[in-house]
Amino acid sequence: MYDVIIIGAGASGLMCAIEAGKRGRRVLILDHSDRLARKVYIAGGGKCNFTNMEVDPKVHLISSNPYFPISAISRFSQWDFLDMIDRYQIPYEEREHGQLFTTTSSADIIRMLRQECETYGVEIRLKREISKVIKTESGFDIETYSRTYSCESLVIATGGLSFSKIGASRFGLFIAEQFGLSVVEPRPGLVPLKSDDESLKALSGLNFPVTVSCNDRSFSENMLITHSGLSGPVILQISNYWTSGDVVTINLLPNLNRHNELTDRKQARQKSSLQKVLAEYLPKRFVVYMIEKNCLPNKQVNQLNEAEIKTISDAFNKWQFKPSGTEGYRTAEVTVGGVSTDEISSKTMESKKVPGLFFAGEVLDVTGHLGGYNLQWAWSSGYCAGQYV
Ligand SMILES: Cc1cc2nc3c(=O)[nH]c(=O)nc-3n(C[C@H](O)[C@H](O)[C@H](O)COP(=O)(O)OP(=O)(O)OC[C@H]3O[C@@H](n4cnc5c(N)ncnc54)[C@H](O)[C@@H]3O)c2cc1C
Repeated sequence: MYDVIIIGAGASGLMCAIEAGKRGRRVLILDHSDRLARKVYIAGGGKCNFTNMEVDPKVHLISSNPYFPISAISRFSQWDFLDMIDRYQIPYEEREHGQLFTTTSSADIIRMLRQECETYGVEIRLKREISKVIKTESGFDIETYSRTYSCESLVIATGGLSFSKIGASRFGLFIAEQFGLSVVEPRPGLVPLKSDDESLKALSGLNFPVTVSCNDRSFSENMLITHSGLSGPVILQISNYWTSGDVVTINLLPNLNRHNELTDRKQARQKSSLQKVLAEYLPKRFVVYMIEKNCLPNKQVNQLNEAEIKTISDAFNKWQFKPSGTEGYRTAEVTVGGVSTDEISSKTMESKKVPGLFFAGEVLDVTGHLGGYNLQWAWSSGYCAGQYV
């Protein structure tokens, strides 16, 4: 019999265990994987973008209830996590957009979490497949294939659905459904967008800054053309807001109003071809692709008429890209959607319907932008649950 059992030895589960352990609770973590925190290990290309200098839940976190994450982030902020990092003297650096990465390896963060668990007497059992969760009078029974564990409080910290090869599963959503809690339909987030356009894919490797917009959100950063469609930080960011069938508007020349620029050049009687002028700003192969795809008149700019200038400007300042889909959970960094926050206390992370049942981390319907926000959500929600289990 344990006071607390946490299913999932990832970012939020370990943080919750540490906090519950500090309160003198007898804590057990169960995970079906053979190693703990495997997503933390691969996060940020192995350097773990563990948080961000600026975390505004209303801007950087997405949820059907945008107010839900505010309380947790304010009670355990990026500064609180940085205090831990400093206590363990883990070296880190700030990169662009306030993103904080370890300078050595993600393994440093995992060592810190493991050490904290040891300090507070948390037991961790890996390679445990859970076959059943049963509500009892005093709490919960957790059945594995070899034995049954009992607890007063149960925390589901099994994360999102992406990267099943390193342990991701639908387990958390099944448990929510078992106990009659609603689930916001999950979909892959922070994921490359696919295209059926073979001539676009032939430009794989080209990389340049753009502004992308979809469903009233815009991001400006680099876009990468890949062998399956579009990727790069700007595309990953917008993918969190994209749903099947939506068109993404891409401004290929975000710092330039093509209409004014072409009109100026026309008035200056420039004889350069349209292709030559555009290749001053974008990779030549991409310009050729756009001219051919949109049947644009590749004449001398001084010969362009007003209607042609407008068509060219629209093609480059408002490229309408319709993805054929996403690369899916195989490459997605996160899951958008999850256990509905409507039935969860934003203070304790406990289910309002099932006392003693808690959820933390990515399994909940809270998703971060790219930039360390998903891990910060895991730390903050795990911390809050740890105060009440
Ligand atoms: C490639 C990649 C790079 C990323 N980089 C970053 C980054 O740099 N910064 C950032 O903020 N976020 C990043 N993320 C996202 C971030 O890693 C996650 O949002 C975060 O780890 C979620 O924490 P969690 O505790 O909710 O879940 P996880 O850390 O995923 O932990 C869930 C745990 O539950 C276990 N589990 C799952 N199902 C079961 C089951 N049925 N039975 C028992 N155990 C189970 C898993 O084995 C795992 O140990 C990245 C994600 C990926 C995939």
